[in-house]
Amino acid sequence: MRASNTTQLIEEGAAALALTPQKPRAAAPARREEFDVIVIGGGQAGLSVGYHLSRAGGGRFVILDANERIGDSWRRRWDSLRLFTAAKFDGLDGMPFPAPRNYFPTKDEMANYLEAYAAHFRLPVRNGVRVERLFERNGRYVVSTGSRELEAQQVVVAMARYQQPRIPEFAGELSATITQLHSSEYRNLAQLQAGGVLLVGAGNSGADIALEVARSGRETWLAGRSPGEIPFRPERFLGRNVLQPLVLGFVFHHLLTVETSIGRKVRPSLLHKAGPLIRVKSRDLAVSGVQRVPRVAGVRAGLPVLEDGRTLAVANVIWCTGLHPGFDWIDLPVFAQDGEPRHRSGLVESHPGLYFVGLQFLHAMSSSMVHGVGRDAARIVQSIKLRASIRSKQQRLWESG
Ligand SMILES: Cc1cc2nc3c(=O)[nH]c(=O)nc-3n(C[C@H](O)[C@H](O)[C@H](O)COP(=O)(O)OP(=O)(O)OC[C@H]3O[C@@H](n4cnc5c(N)ncnc54)[C@H](O)[C@@H]3O)c2cc1C
Repeated sequence: MRASNTTQLIEEGAAALALTPQKPRAAAPARREEFDVIVIGGGQAGLSVGYHLSRAGGGRFVILDANERIGDSWRRRWDSLRLFTAAKFDGLDGMPFPAPRNYFPTKDEMANYLEAYAAHFRLPVRNGVRVERLFERNGRYVVSTGSRELEAQQVVVAMARYQQPRIPEFAGELSATITQLHSSEYRNLAQLQAGGVLLVGAGNSGADIALEVARSGRETWLAGRSPGEIPFRPERFLGRNVLQPLVLGFVFHHLLTVETSIGRKVRPSLLHKAGPLIRVKSRDLAVSGVQRVPRVAGVRAGLPVLEDGRTLAVANVIWCTGLHPGFDWIDLPVFAQDGEPRHRSGLVESHPGLYFVGLQFLHAMSSSMVHGVGRDAARIVQSIKLRASIRSKQQRLWESG
């Protein structure tokens, strides 16, 4: 829907409300808007879908995003974070990342790029709008944002799984004197109190933050099994020019996909496992004095206990235990027992017109990464177009009797 039409609708709605007797506020009917397509999520996945929809003349569509500003998912990550993918892999379809090809952008540069992308293609993003419920009514999808209902024949849930922190329940038993943070809340060392730091979870976030903490001179423990590491340094000559293009461009994008037998074989384990360390190597951690310890098994007398029975008298704990999509607002029976939505490369076959984009290994290993999301978005938009044209032909046939 064009902005002017939207404004007009809202104004008409407001005028009508002014003429009718007002019910108590809680009982007021939700305001309704109609679209052909609603995209939920305005990060790289949602913007990519928006780009392809606008190129395809995708009818009336809107992109809803809970964040106040486009790019905030990146802005909120820790201050020293740089992308592990070089700029040549950080551009979305239609607009290269504005930096030398082998430059590794900061997280804020990535956030600003996404904001510029949405502005350049005039994508209809509404920020500060959290979807509280997605459900079906009379054969259409309804998106409820509390005060408002938006309806469409087709809806795309466009987001990576990194939405809500996953923290073990026993975290609540830690002594109140210990400073606790999840990696998604960690910004910099100033948030920590004096004393040792335990990082729980040895994936990429755990390793990156552990290195930063250890280099500040604090005693640092990193708990958990190492997920392995890629056998090269992305920032070195061979990494930049040969191995990163080979791994990201070929292995992640073309070899490990649901269309190859090796891709189908490894997909189930890659859906739930932490990926290998990319930038920080085990050697870097050892050299900086990070102490590797087994998994944290629970809490004893307010202190973290390791699987080998040791307790650690630390002053700070950073939970690098991952994130989950928090899809409890999707009120549709589309989830498998493991909590993952059932889909085929993003198409939800049980619910025609419903799609996912941006999830882990949606179609390929690259699906949740910047350089992989555009291909998935383009394919989903093809399906949206096809379904819209079939429906409009049916409608014409029905109208012509
Ligand atoms: C620490 C970290 C580093 C990474 N580094 C790289 C890298 O170097 N290179 C790379 O290619 N990939 C990287 N990734 C992976 C991926 O590119 C990012 O996670 C990226 O942010 C995913 O984009 P997205 O649009 O799929 O999801 P997000 O960026 O999470 O955006 C989803 C959007 O949906 C909105 N949203 C969620 N729920 C709702 C709701 N109910 N209603 C309305 N809006 C909602 C959120 O506000 C958010 O803006 C990294 C990931 C992490 C966690």
